Amino acid sequence: MVIKRTSLQKYRLRKALEYLKKKEGRGTELISLYVPPGRSVSEVVNMLRQEYGTASNIKSTTTRKNVQDAIVKVMQRLKLFREIPENGLVIFCGSIPQNGPGSEKIETYVIIPPEPISIYLYRCDNRFHIEHLEEFLKEHENYGILVFDAGSATFAVLSGKRVEIVQEITSGIPGKTRAGGQSARRFERIREAKIIEYFKRVAKHANEIFLKIPDLKGIIIGGPGPTKYDFEKGGYLHYSLRDKVLATLDTAYVGAQGVEEVLEKAPEILKKVRYIEEKRIIQEYLYHLGHDTGLAVYGERDVRRFLEAGAVKTVFLSEGLEEVRVKVKCSSCGYEFQETMKERNITEFEKELSVKPCPKCSATSLHIEEKIDLLEELAELAENAGSEIEVVSTETEEGRMLLESFGGIAAILRYKP
Ligand SMILES: [Zn+2]
Repeated sequence: MVIKRTSLQKYRLRKALEYLKKKEGRGTELISLYVPPGRSVSEVVNMLRQEYGTASNIKSTTTRKNVQDAIVKVMQRLKLFREIPENGLVIFCGSIPQNGPGSEKIETYVIIPPEPISIYLYRCDNRFHIEHLEEFLKEHENYGILVFDAGSATFAVLSGKRVEIVQEITSGIPGKTRAGGQSARRFERIREAKIIEYFKRVAKHANEIFLKIPDLKGIIIGGPGPTKYDFEKGGYLHYSLRDKVLATLDTAYVGAQGVEEVLEKAPEILKKVRYIEEKRIIQEYLYHLGHDTGLAVYGERDVRRFLEAGAVKTVFLSEGLEEVRVKVKCSSCGYEFQETMKERNITEFEKELSVKPCPKCSATSLHIEEKIDLLEELAELAENAGSEIEVVSTETEEGRMLLESFGGIAAILRYKP
């Protein structure tokens, strides 16, 4: 999957949810709070005060204390907002055992959803209820579907997994067969004129329906027989829609059944679309590399350097990156340095660090001050520099090439260094 700069958010959300999913409470004491836009902060705080009161009925002393502590934390976080953000607000909070029983620590997570939420929810459970945010990770792209033959046409819109039949029209064109002789030729001429008129009507409806759809990703045309090909050849559709036709398929039926047939084949077509997108962006990179334009760079060190210099037009980051960026600090003299390493090597690194003398003051007081996913760290650099960010999956050949041949990090520069 290709994620544009705007939906770097989506990648971040997925990472955050994967993390929260693993959290487990000792008892029923983890709070999930969803607040949709339009609510007032004080209204939610009042509701939480009531929940605080209700929690005093909890029998177990530990659970009661943990729940009430968590509610207080949530209220504190909530009050930092003057108003609920325009997409709403989600807070997860609760006592999480850090290292076996008795080691609970209150953890709080605030998430601003990438799109407006409509649900208002307060739940206390032994896990965080992330499922209402998982919705946002699903594909929400819009596609137009046109299924027709010489007799009728059906227009449908596919949004994510939801399909809606918007309109059905009939052609009013009589069947092909008629008596022979002179009148048959005349009949055929009339029929042809009627078909052209019908094609114009089909195009008019298609233009009206599909041009209105925001961010239309593509159109799939289906139907039995050659009618659909004649229609395409005739160039009846609005030019901007013509470019969006992803596939023209044979179906056995028209109408709702025909749309159903198209939907069955749609996932394969749509997957191909994403594949093509991913291929296209990586190939742009390969073009620069192959033609020696001097604009293609790769590897963490170079890409970081050019990002910091503000010279990067587009940065490509592989979802398969396993590295983290670690900031080490000496607590005696304040000396700092950063290092990149695989996530799984951190424990080992930390162990070595604890006996290593500080390069500046020689005290053995080096510790990990901060750690962040390398992808996240480079994405932040790119955001600050106004570079485009492409987070590339490892599901395509091009995506795997990015990871395996270029270390998962590459960039096209704005100008030759
Ligand atoms: Zn030091």
